[in-house]
Amino acid sequence: MLKHKVALITGSTSGIGLAIAQSLAKEDCHIVLNGFCDHMKLQSLISDLSNITRGKVIYQGANLMIGDEISEMFENIRKEFGGVDILVNNAGMQYVAPIDEFPVEKWDNIISLNLTSVFHTIRHSLPNMKEKGWGRIINVASAHGVVASAGKSAYVATKHGLIGLTKAVALEVAAVINPKTNDYMDITSNAICPGWVLTPLVEDQIHKMALEQKISYDQAKLNLLSEKQPSKRFVQPDELGALTVFLCGEKTSQINGASYIMDGGWTIQ
Ligand code: NAD
Repeated sequence: MLKHKVALITGSTSGIGLAIAQSLAKEDCHIVLNGFCDHMKLQSLISDLSNITRGKVIYQGANLMIGDEISEMFENIRKEFGGVDILVNNAGMQYVAPIDEFPVEKWDNIISLNLTSVFHTIRHSLPNMKEKGWGRIINVASAHGVVASAGKSAYVATKHGLIGLTKAVALEVAAVINPKTNDYMDITSNAICPGWVLTPLVEDQIHKMALEQKISYDQAKLNLLSEKQPSKRFVQPDELGALTVFLCGEKTSQINGASYIMDGGWTIQ
């Protein structure tokens, strides 16, 4: 069913985004990769993904903190494929500091990447989805979209904001009529909320913890999991890939505005 759908996964050169790209490639989607990456690694990512999907794989290196680069990326996608059918807003960044010591520039960058870029990618994607009568918007929020942690004010604010944005868009697409068929369109907007996933974004935090608390990396990793995630295991990136594929699949047109939590029990405590 997803064969040759055009999937843009932001921040897909690493971590969760890459796993989602791999999962959508297994469904034979066309894949648009985005994110920062050196040339050698990028060539190997494109080649690996091209071996998985029967669709095309292209790379768009837009810096999502720059609105004009996002517009240019969509122009390029329009020329190549006509538009985006599956939009996975995954790119995100973290910075940890108490709010009275939080660098203003870091705050601005986190708002810009984690939230404002999503406004832009959604507004650029929707016209094509409405034209085709089908679309899936999946926003990678976080357990921090549901609960807070000290030291993560900007991240928590953006992830809560992302869940709000997901719901607002869901209402806007819920009852849009397809003028060609006179029937409701099948466009949905949902969020997924991972707990800890062992990616570079979290590895940085573990290294910082180990340094500050003068403990080993492995001990810091265990402490990090024990503090929040009752399962004491990391969520696996391919599990988030499978959830994304599910939300893109058949019989999901009435899942709209939902936040799917996959956090080993973190937020039920
Ligand atoms: P990661 O650091 O492995 O990957 C981040 C990706 O975003 C990379 O591809 C990077 O190049 C890209 N990126 C960064 N800045 C960018 C920019 N300005 N423009 C374009 N691309 C940019 O991180 P990850 O852990 O895979 O995180 C992915 C998403 O998952 C983020 O939104 C994060 O908040 C969310 N998340 C992660 C965890 C976790 O435990 N790792 C938990 C909950 C939510």
